[in-house]
Amino acid sequence: MTETISLDAVPADVFAICRTLADKGKRAWIVGGCVRDLILGRTASDWDVCTDALPDDLLRIFPRAVPTGIAHGTVTVVKNHEHYEVTTLRGETTYSDGRRPDSVFFVDDITADLARRDFTVNAMAISPVDGHLIDPFDGQGDLRRGILRAVGDAHARFSEDGLRVLRAARFSAQLGFALDPATHRAIGDTLDTFRKVSAERIRDEWMKAMKSNKPSMAFEIMRETGLLAIICPELMESVGVDQNRYHTFDVWGHAMSCMDACVGDPVLRISALFHDVGKPRSRAFSDKTKDYTFYEHERIGAEMVRPICERLRFSTDERGRIEDLVRFHMWHYDGWTDAAVRRWIRRVGTHRVEDLYALREADIRGKGPTKVTPEDFDSLGALKAHVERILAEGAALTTKDLKVNGNDLMRELALKPGRILGEILEQLLEGVINDPTENDRDRLLARAREIVGGKKD
Ligand code: ATP
Ligand code: MG
Repeated sequence: MTETISLDAVPADVFAICRTLADKGKRAWIVGGCVRDLILGRTASDWDVCTDALPDDLLRIFPRAVPTGIAHGTVTVVKNHEHYEVTTLRGETTYSDGRRPDSVFFVDDITADLARRDFTVNAMAISPVDGHLIDPFDGQGDLRRGILRAVGDAHARFSEDGLRVLRAARFSAQLGFALDPATHRAIGDTLDTFRKVSAERIRDEWMKAMKSNKPSMAFEIMRETGLLAIICPELMESVGVDQNRYHTFDVWGHAMSCMDACVGDPVLRISALFHDVGKPRSRAFSDKTKDYTFYEHERIGAEMVRPICERLRFSTDERGRIEDLVRFHMWHYDGWTDAAVRRWIRRVGTHRVEDLYALREADIRGKGPTKVTPEDFDSLGALKAHVERILAEGAALTTKDLKVNGNDLMRELALKPGRILGEILEQLLEGVINDPTENDRDRLLARAREIVGGKKD
């Protein structure tokens, strides 16, 4: 059965590609995720075209196309700086590495091409000539029902390619869909294939999940099915770890709710996911408060995320950001002095301040609606205002803001280059943070002389 779908959102360049193919007597369809997004009225992240033109034809018809995956029948056509993948219809054979088909063969049947795709909602094609939908697996029905279902036998499909189980979790969050029960069950049964997926691919799927409204949908699926125990056993430690009177959820539930509430880019949300990962290892029962405490969980957590981020191949910058946010997410602002605010900014770094506010806001919301108090937000607002005032005053917050530098110290105190210079500058900064009027060249040099004298004693 076919249905007519509005093609208004399809870029003119996609029509042009299909027309060029039609002029050469080839058939062409818009296919895959962009068809799903077209039907849902969502913005497609990329537009893919499939055709019965063979790879050699494609290179002839689009002489400037980039042969990005020519062995698999894919070329990239660039139009107006946009990239469009044009792929020869293909079926697939066996998979022995758990990721890629051993060989591909080209077919002229669109249904065979759709059958190799992962989920029914991703296995539809539209002919741009007449707008007819080709939907052999009832993807449209599943879109209506809000169900993510593997094409064919889920167990077999997930045993072929281990990435699909992770895509299932990610699409569930991205589309807000439930997993069809058989598809859900098959994830836990095919974990051995999943183990072959590279860390980079896992990280990419996590980052995509973080762009959805409720990334927790993906993470709950990963937890339930055993994927998370493979990817990040450290996070599993939080499951069932009850907290204290300030929280509704266990540590895991709080991480989920904080991540969902976190407004920001994917790396910030990853930080929300991990912010309390150190809690299970630091939990202790206090006889005094008759409740659990989590002393130093932020330090323990920061030490835990470092190897996790290395394992998942986050970039050095991303890892540094996640680590900092986990390490510095705890503070109790209760009308600090100006010097205390300057010390805080110096410790966390001006470049982390906005991230920390966003994380704190999510952390508050993540306690659960009944536990959030107006004071939580008042205190955050008061810190923000205080920090803003301190920054506007332009007081020194790093050694670069001091009125002396390493060269001055070498010249005036006859010091040689080395670690000592940095140590002296740090000590000078401490004094200036306590009292900004100390940021005066003569006074700093005098103080530096004292420090050097003290070191010699
Ligand atoms: P996104 O919104 O992330 O772009 P998408 O569904 O378009 O989602 P792509 O990775 O762009 O996903 O892939 C395009 C299409 O190729 C998918 O919709 C699906 O039909 C097919 N596909 C991609 N990866 C796989 C896979 N691992 N196994 C089977 N089919 C796949
Ligand atoms: Mg896509």
